Amino acid sequence: MVVISECSAPTASRCFPVSLRKDAAGVLVRRLSLPRRSWSSKVPSFRTLAVRASTPLSAAVASEACAKVIDGKYVSKLIRDKISAEVSRMKEAIGVVPGLAVILVGDRKDSATYVRNKKKACESVGINSFEVQLPADSREEEVLKFISGFDDDPSVHGILVQLPLPSHVNEQSILNAVSIEKDVDGFHPLNVGRLAMRGREPLFVPCTPKGCIELLHRYGIGIKGKRAVVIGRSNIVGMPAALLLQREDATISIVHSRTQNPEEITREADIIIAAVGQANMVRGSWIKPGAVIIDVGINPVEDSKSSRGYKLVGDVCYEEACKVASAITPVPGGVGPMTIAMLLSNTLTSAKRAHNFQ
Ligand code: NAP
Repeated sequence: MVVISECSAPTASRCFPVSLRKDAAGVLVRRLSLPRRSWSSKVPSFRTLAVRASTPLSAAVASEACAKVIDGKYVSKLIRDKISAEVSRMKEAIGVVPGLAVILVGDRKDSATYVRNKKKACESVGINSFEVQLPADSREEEVLKFISGFDDDPSVHGILVQLPLPSHVNEQSILNAVSIEKDVDGFHPLNVGRLAMRGREPLFVPCTPKGCIELLHRYGIGIKGKRAVVIGRSNIVGMPAALLLQREDATISIVHSRTQNPEEITREADIIIAAVGQANMVRGSWIKPGAVIIDVGINPVEDSKSSRGYKLVGDVCYEEACKVASAITPVPGGVGPMTIAMLLSNTLTSAKRAHNFQ
């Protein structure tokens, strides 16, 4: 569904070429590549920016605060390059190529796109991909049969069942059927249970929340002792994100659809992870100055300027948030690419574990 959103102006950080470098603390920062003459003499030659594209640039630089852009696209590329090298090393050393099996049930366009992207990503790093497409009216037993086949197949190291499943298929039975050793999505209750328990280690952590935490680490953002608010409590994003933050010694609040005062609670956060599915729900007034924002949301909103008639925005109103926050992920180009990078990483880990390859 495409919605209309007020908070959706483009930002200069998406409109001008950018490059990344490390700051004095070794933290990745984004640099706008602008002609030198654009800069006012009072403005430092390097700044991270988030400004309205329509604002004259020098005025915008002088007047607007600017959050550091947490560039998931760039970080995911670094991760994928490393995975690619590791896949080659493994193949050369022991002749094993990691393999990922994806099962798609039904004909949802968005799911088909996600599966296609996962397949392409596997190819790009040298991971083998196996795909099964089943019609929407497939019986649960048929899906289970394919899971069992991949479980027995030594060339498959990860099994992923694309969600959501058609309503007549019991999601719980399907996720339970994937062996925890191949559960690269990290959705098996045993892996989730281990994630929740102190002193236990899951074999795999769900990819999107894992990507969120990886971004915080890569940008040198401390988690220990911080107040964190996760907006959303879904099994695939919000809940595991909260568990991961807790494992890293943050103090967590979870905001959900029945929360009475979400704005007030969110304003206490040093770190916000928003995974709601509501375009631009988190406004600037919800954010404590200097907070770090990881925006998981991917929401289509009407955009007459786009040939598709829509564009994607997050759960956080970017143009307001970037004036208050110290760092923020863009949508697109933030968490999304990290999710796929984490899936590839989990598949490689699984193959290494199966073959005791260090
Ligand atoms: P979901 O299963 O629909 O869960 C949404 C959560 O948000 C629920 O816990 C719900 O609360 C809560 N919520 C809904 N409306 C709310 C409101 N007005 N105030 C406070 N909380 C509210 O969604 P999801 O699968 O977690 O995905 C969330 C978003 O992330 C979507 O936009 C999705 O497209 C995106 N996503 C992105 C990636 C990626 O790779 N970047 C991956 C997965 C998902 P209740 O529990 O009370 O219903």
